[in-house]
Amino acid sequence: MKQEPIIINNYIDGVFQNSAQGLTMPLINPATASSYGTMPLSRVEDVDLAYMAAYKAFPGWSSLSAAQRSTILLCIAEGIESRAEELSLAECIDNGKPLTLAQKVDIPRAATNMRFFAQAITQFANESYNEPEYINYTLRQPIGVVGCISPWNLPLYLFTWKIAPALATGNTVVAKPSETTPYTAYLFSEICMAAGLPAGVLNVLHGTGAECGNAIVSHPGIKAISFTGGTATGKHISSIAAPMFKKLSLELGGKNPNIIFDDCEYETMLHTTLQSSFSNQGQICLCGSRIYVQRGIYEKFKKDFVAKATALKVGNPLSQDTKVGAIVSLEHYNKILSYIKLAKQEGGHILCGGHAVHPEGEYSNGYFIAPTVIEGLSNSCRTNQEEIFGPVVTLTPFDTEQEVMALANDSIYGLSATIWTQQLDRAHRMAKLIEAGIVWINCWLHRDLRTPFGGMKSSGVGREGGLEALRFFTEPKNVCIKID
Ligand code: NDP
Repeated sequence: MKQEPIIINNYIDGVFQNSAQGLTMPLINPATASSYGTMPLSRVEDVDLAYMAAYKAFPGWSSLSAAQRSTILLCIAEGIESRAEELSLAECIDNGKPLTLAQKVDIPRAATNMRFFAQAITQFANESYNEPEYINYTLRQPIGVVGCISPWNLPLYLFTWKIAPALATGNTVVAKPSETTPYTAYLFSEICMAAGLPAGVLNVLHGTGAECGNAIVSHPGIKAISFTGGTATGKHISSIAAPMFKKLSLELGGKNPNIIFDDCEYETMLHTTLQSSFSNQGQICLCGSRIYVQRGIYEKFKKDFVAKATALKVGNPLSQDTKVGAIVSLEHYNKILSYIKLAKQEGGHILCGGHAVHPEGEYSNGYFIAPTVIEGLSNSCRTNQEEIFGPVVTLTPFDTEQEVMALANDSIYGLSATIWTQQLDRAHRMAKLIEAGIVWINCWLHRDLRTPFGGMKSSGVGREGGLEALRFFTEPKNVCIKID
């Protein structure tokens, strides 16, 4: 059955509209490499319109009580849940991820993000210090109009992760999803409208990072930028926003170590390592792409892991048994394949995968890559130092705790790390020394939304999640009163 083309529009001041100049660009389904609709190509003038709408809406929205804002955010969470199937399908078509993953992870988590911050804001308290002669209390006030820019890998999940705390704290928002995956952000605008979010409180613009994203970051009225994306983009954004003294939260790339000791609980480790390597085609910033395995179990792990990776079904994202869907875009697909070529040039031995996959029928032109496991590389080579962000992992044996700690920390990145061991003292020791913002021990991707989320070194600046996000999106103002 032929589907009607999808026409995505900007959402500005509560109205759906094309870009001011009427420019559009095609939407591409990466599983079929075909266009399924269009989106606006927004520019500076669209950012100006969105900013003005957000600026006008700020006094009204920021003067609502936390409970009133919370009620609307809860309605948005319900709206996401009631349209979950449609959103999951949209995420699958837009991003290429398996439909089952969008149904189980992306869309439920988007609703949870809204619900979590709707509840958190009702519990957010001011500090107060009571002394005999003075009382100090600290107001936490919304910043004003803020910018939220999110990437393509977990489109609605990460879009709502920023927007929910920004709105909960009373800011108004100009937001931009990635041009590669705008579909669910568009449907989210419809949900916000239906939930009764006042016009102008959230404005969603579609367009390229270079034009639309850049105009948001450069806008003098937009007081804070919450950005998730690549490290090079984060650096560029800082160079514009820092001299303007904007508040900045940067969640950037990673090259995460997955450290496996020979005393680990083997079957759980093997099952989880398969997920932490290839979920979402390896396009999760928290995937463990450098796998270090203690020598005692190296050969066994290699055999078992390669067998399991080879058995993962690659192809049609709509199929229930597909485990690895399409890579998000042709550009990214070519980038990943170029890194596989580089790994071979650097002396890597491809244990499985290492090539594109062309499924039969309508998916034959899609951007599929087989799960790829490589060994025999030095820690310092580019394959082990640069973020590939695809279904590609390397295996490296190690002997001692000290040795693997040095290998793990030998990276410009510091987002997350996973450690598999039954020794409690070792787990604590390593967690303390490892240079990463998030450490998982004997598990992966378990997220309690109250905990700080983010990276160190080139993986970012600042933390999201829980109180950290509520603090980021508010300006503290201390008031000191003489009482005696
Ligand atoms: P990009 O940095 O290319 O893009 C991220 C967002 O920034 C997109 O909306 C993009 O728009 C926009 N953008 C691009 N250039 C500019 C600019 N000059 N000014 C303002 N905005 C701009 O990242 P990807 O979308 O490729 O996402 C993958 C990256 O994100 C990986 O490095 C991954 O590790 C990282 N990431 C980090 C996470 C974390 O929490 N630390 C979580 C998830 C991903 P457009 O796409 O339209 O160009």
